[in-house]
Amino acid sequence: MTSFQRSGKTAPRLVQDIYEYDPAHPPATGRNLLADVPPVFPEYYNGPLEHISSAACRHNFVSKPAQSYVPQSEQGNTGASTKVSAVCLMCRYHLQVEVSSTPGIGQPSTRFSDHVHHLVYKSGKHRGGAAPEEVSPKGQMLEMFHYECSYLSCSVAVSLRFASPVLNDDRVRLLTDPEVLRQRANEAFAAHPDRLEGVAPPTPINVLLNLRTYISNALLDSQQSKSISAVNKRFMTCFGVEGKPCKDLLEFLGFSSKVCKLALEYVLAICNVINTSTRTKAFGNLLDRIRGQSFPIAINSRYFSMTLYTNLQRSSNRGQCYYEDLGVVEDMAASSIIEAFNRQVSVDPARTPVYLKCLKSIGILRGGEDGSLIDQAVQVAYSEGKYTEEDVVDAYKYFGLSHDDQRLTEESIIGKFYAYLGATTAVQETETRRQLWRIGDSRRSERIKAAAEESTTELTQPK
Ligand SMILES: [Zn+2]
Ligand SMILES: [Zn+2]
Repeated sequence: MTSFQRSGKTAPRLVQDIYEYDPAHPPATGRNLLADVPPVFPEYYNGPLEHISSAACRHNFVSKPAQSYVPQSEQGNTGASTKVSAVCLMCRYHLQVEVSSTPGIGQPSTRFSDHVHHLVYKSGKHRGGAAPEEVSPKGQMLEMFHYECSYLSCSVAVSLRFASPVLNDDRVRLLTDPEVLRQRANEAFAAHPDRLEGVAPPTPINVLLNLRTYISNALLDSQQSKSISAVNKRFMTCFGVEGKPCKDLLEFLGFSSKVCKLALEYVLAICNVINTSTRTKAFGNLLDRIRGQSFPIAINSRYFSMTLYTNLQRSSNRGQCYYEDLGVVEDMAASSIIEAFNRQVSVDPARTPVYLKCLKSIGILRGGEDGSLIDQAVQVAYSEGKYTEEDVVDAYKYFGLSHDDQRLTEESIIGKFYAYLGATTAVQETETRRQLWRIGDSRRSERIKAAAEESTTELTQPK
């Protein structure tokens, strides 16, 4: 997928893709939603379209305030990064988003700019990448993605870090499986019948709430290193006789056998996740952190209808692909979509036909005022000599040729052209030359283009 490295996506698109990227469930195509940006579907592509697995998590992120840092806007561009950390309530994947800008270069602040950032993937360590993902000391899989804004006047860079859940399935089972909990509590009751008389066996939520309390105390009161008595009633019924059945788990979380030591905040977040009654505040401001400004939203909400498709339907929906290839989202205003088209063409000119096709199709899909605004941009592109791949197919047809005819040569095409030219009127000549030029440009043939432009004299014109 190296050929996709130079294209980019707007910040709102990147945010949308972050919510849909699930490292644990890669799509059938193997395409990496965050590194292969954006997935460009060539014309007449018949392969698998799935870019999101049907098993992928639709993340529901909650923020981790102690691992987040947002500079005050009045501080201006001090070079301090904005960092937001979060964890998904559903799959327990961790995300860290860092937005930075170089002091003194380009925009005065990472938070406000006059454009929607157009982010181009630069490097990373992840599945399917040149550099593989890393493994943390706690056994978490770590993936990194780095992007830079393509505007020359802008020095904003965005880094993403995904980390797999801290607790594996076995450890979650140890904390939440009712049968395991019942057995552990019964052992405690048998070992200390007098002490535990009348104590109810814990439910999974009791165990998690207790663990959360221990971790909170350790975090907030780390200097005091409070101890938990191993024969504490609550501790024993939740974690077994003297905590022995859960010793590995507790040590993994940073507790020593006697003393409650500082555990990392992400462990606390994990408990919050499993225990959904104590959710931290919603992670709704991620978009603001990355995009740095509010982007113009399409006024007509009917565009939203397409976002209601499920992942599976979405993967086979062409309308979705047009937005995706341009690196935009469906509720963007036409002006932003046109701007994104211009950015894609400037960073990735080789795929201009694909981008023009997307722009044109979005204009047709939207119709109305947006449609005519986009159509103006399409006409400007045509006047600059741009074309879609369909236009190339039509150009061959114009001369009675087939675009996939392997026998065609420069000579035979130019020959056809002169035959047509001889039979056309002066009015039609401009169009005939335009059609040939598209064929020449798409074949990267200077000779055909020269014939279309009639700019060289060394061409041998057949009689
Ligand atoms: Zn998730
Ligand atoms: Zn920018």
